Amino acid sequence: MASDRPVVNDSELHAALKKYFGFAEFKGLQQDVVTSILEGNNTFAIMPTGGGKSLCYQLPALMQEGTAIVVSPLIALMKNQVDAIRGISDQNGIAHVLNSSLTKTEIRQVKQDILDGVTKLLYVAPESLTKEENIEFLQSVKLSFIAVDEAHCISEWGHDFRPEYRNLRNIVNRLDDSIPVIGLTATATPKVQEDIIKNLGITGAKTFKASFNRPNLFYEVRPKTANIDSDIIRFVKKNSGKSGIVYCLSRKKVEELAQVLQVNGVSAVPYHAGFDAKTRSKYQDMFLMEDVDVVVATIAFGMGIDKPDVRFVIHHDIPKSIESYYQETGRAGRDDGEGHCLAFYAYKDIEKLEKFMSNKPVAEQEIGNALLQEVVAYAETSMSRRKFMLHYFGEEFDEVNGDGADMDDNARNPKEKVEATEDVVKVLKAIEGTNEKFKSKEVVKTLTGKVNALITSHKVDDKDVFGSGSDKGKEHWMALIRQMIVAGLVKKEIEQYGILHVTQKGKDFMAKPDSFMMTKDHTYTSTGNDAIVS
Ligand code: ADP
Repeated sequence: MASDRPVVNDSELHAALKKYFGFAEFKGLQQDVVTSILEGNNTFAIMPTGGGKSLCYQLPALMQEGTAIVVSPLIALMKNQVDAIRGISDQNGIAHVLNSSLTKTEIRQVKQDILDGVTKLLYVAPESLTKEENIEFLQSVKLSFIAVDEAHCISEWGHDFRPEYRNLRNIVNRLDDSIPVIGLTATATPKVQEDIIKNLGITGAKTFKASFNRPNLFYEVRPKTANIDSDIIRFVKKNSGKSGIVYCLSRKKVEELAQVLQVNGVSAVPYHAGFDAKTRSKYQDMFLMEDVDVVVATIAFGMGIDKPDVRFVIHHDIPKSIESYYQETGRAGRDDGEGHCLAFYAYKDIEKLEKFMSNKPVAEQEIGNALLQEVVAYAETSMSRRKFMLHYFGEEFDEVNGDGADMDDNARNPKEKVEATEDVVKVLKAIEGTNEKFKSKEVVKTLTGKVNALITSHKVDDKDVFGSGSDKGKEHWMALIRQMIVAGLVKKEIEQYGILHVTQKGKDFMAKPDSFMMTKDHTYTSTGNDAIVS
């Protein structure tokens, strides 16, 4: 990459930070990312929501010659950002959005500002960037870099796949393939990270990954019963005066629940994409201005909302992936104050989500199901929820001494642990003995000596390991496998839809078994109006 650009020193960077944003210090990895961009490197920044990603590309854009293109999936989000940037300058033209809703005169103005070198940040949706006339225009101007925000949209394994993102590398090549490409995302499992790097064509990019741990957030899962509305009312009333979001899957439920809350004396507004823009922004403002405490919303609410003191995020319905859950709960406690993340879970809801997917292409369904199974595992696990979630994002967490170790229901009410060394060895042998071809479900069948078509077709019932764990039930084995995955003895290949492999650590364990303490998973038994969690 071009490294003939002058590297900016620390005091210059701080001066620019102060000048443009009024901040005295960089947050987290911001300075490293900004420096990397100014040095002209392809750069990949993975930071949790609220980590301050926008500044990472805004500051270098403002400090450099030329226009930075910022690709972002959401028009509303772009508008907020442009307004914020314009607020720091007396020149409106410093930031623009280029999209199809602009009039001809507006487009002319945007182009003129770019040609005059006034525009430092040009926000575009990927669809607009594909337009031939825009490409031709951008080929003729000086660009500083291209930042791809919400870069996980490029991956089918992310929680918000957008096919238009796939074309970005081709467009960059047509514009100026020597300018740096910056990928930014708040959700990146190892698989998604790989996809981003590959599809953006930034192999060797300088990568900066912040910890995804949010030690101030308390995670809790409760069984979802027919009394869920009362459960939510009780929770919200106990937290009265605090700001909170309640997420529901359907618009209908959003409206119903908002009404139920209102009737019960809670100041709440509904929010979903079915309302017109005026109503949406009215309700959003009421929440932001604290005219109401609670917003009951579909996932349409939240992207780009920066209310620092959201004190709770409740999920009336379990989300479709851990990424979504992390993203949505991430809106709580941005000011580092308390944030209670409460999810209501019933397996029935998982089946509902599976059904929603049933008319999608098979590959998409398989991915969707693999992601859903992770949600099931999160809900049912009795281990540290924080450890589980961070492991999902490729991060180690010490559930005893780590920051926020006591901040979840399982950590506060630990289940008894039992020695499971022998069973761990049985699982490892079952995986190896079936040639690492199976997902958890088939491994558990192998252990318990049950057959299905796949087991029979692989003639597993003839093998020694078949039935080697028939003294225990499938729940026991499922829980143990999940805990072994997090402990690193077994690896679940998400991209192979969940096939299990024995890791080196697992092989070492087999050679020299060590103590392994496990806890039983929660079981959620729905009994009509009530549910028992054990
Ligand atoms: P993200 O896009 O990663 O979710 P944002 O860019 O929206 O995060 O930033 C989150 C919040 O942090 C914003 O309110 C922003 O003004 C604030 N912020 C960003 N950088 C700094 C900084 N260096 N010092 C103080 N506040 C910051």
